[in-house]
Amino acid sequence: MTALDTRAVHAGRDDLTGLGVHVPPIDLSTTNPLPSVDSGGDAYQALATGEPLHPGGTAVYQRLWNPTVARFETALAELEATTDAVAFASGMAALTATLLAATRDGKRHLVAVRPLYGGTDHVLASGLLGTEVTWARPDQVAAAVRPDTALVVVETPANPTLDLVDIAALATAAGGVPLLVDNTVATPVLQQPARHGATLVLHSATKSIGGHGDVLAGVVACDSGWAARLRQVRALTGAVLHPLGAYLLHRGLQTLPLRVRAQQAGAEKLAAWLATHPHVTRVHHPSLADPAGLVGRQLRGTGSLLSFEVRGGAPAASAVAAACRLITHAVSLGGVDTLIQHPASLTHRPVDGPAKPPAGLLRLSVGLEDPEDLHADLAHALDSIPAEDSEAAV
Ligand SMILES: *Cc1c(COP(=O)(O)O)cnc(C)c1O
Repeated sequence: MTALDTRAVHAGRDDLTGLGVHVPPIDLSTTNPLPSVDSGGDAYQALATGEPLHPGGTAVYQRLWNPTVARFETALAELEATTDAVAFASGMAALTATLLAATRDGKRHLVAVRPLYGGTDHVLASGLLGTEVTWARPDQVAAAVRPDTALVVVETPANPTLDLVDIAALATAAGGVPLLVDNTVATPVLQQPARHGATLVLHSATKSIGGHGDVLAGVVACDSGWAARLRQVRALTGAVLHPLGAYLLHRGLQTLPLRVRAQQAGAEKLAAWLATHPHVTRVHHPSLADPAGLVGRQLRGTGSLLSFEVRGGAPAASAVAAACRLITHAVSLGGVDTLIQHPASLTHRPVDGPAKPPAGLLRLSVGLEDPEDLHADLAHALDSIPAEDSEAAV
């Protein structure tokens, strides 16, 4: 097996030389000519029930199958060490399809470990999709699982506090219940959850996989049985990824290992410096705390996302976000430019009670800028905290 960096460059491209091209063709057809009524009907039936397109088969219609999207899926599956992957219009569309595919046969109960991405927390807590959730710490999962539990849901490293969860231990605790791991923050460069027992590996591909802030997408890596169920949901509900987006994501995979490592190096420097800053009470990054010893064992690095708490709560955090010049105040993460945001007001606004992020917490997604320039921007922004805020009790 070749190294991950090599596979990132070549995955999903095996047939290009035979086609006489060097980069993947983009197929924009929404419909496809059908050789006959019978073969068209058979192909329609197979694709609409989740079968993949077999060699020489007829694609029929873009909502059922698109070769540019399928190439990206092949590449992503290879990087996640799964046989299959299914791409969607967004990370939330991928989560929705997973919940619909998992909650069958009268099983509608979920066990979920907090913290989760705010949108995920919101969709689970609201029960919008007809599910019922039990929130559990990792050590409570085994006791929370019931005969009607359809899925265990976890995110590690978790957004925004970068908590790490032992995936193999959680898979054991889940017993026979499928385990969904949101791997958006780690990316397959740092962690391949399927190797540790995850059944389904979800990404908001909008983040590091795309990496340039110009594609909204989601993807689930899994085995062929789950892929068929997910493709059926996708075909019937229509939350498909556009082929232009799939092309950009496939291209983004080629530089993913380089970007992740360079962004991580910047994040480690900033985390170490922030931890010494007088206005900062706490920094969350796996380079600073790894109580379960998962870095090196499960996670091959520490990642480009960090968060830090400032003295003075929400007003101080707002002042810092507003004073950044080089760093953009915006949600999202994993891209080539550095973004800062206040989770309690923005991404994690719908999260209730004790699961809500601390008022003084800011999340920083470190990009590819020179860390010295990011340091200077943050130093200036932290100096802008009004004196009365920085003196206030936290
Ligand atoms: C952004 C995000 C999502 C949702 O993805 P979208 O592409 O915005 O729909 C899910 N999980 C995590 C960890 C995220 O950061």
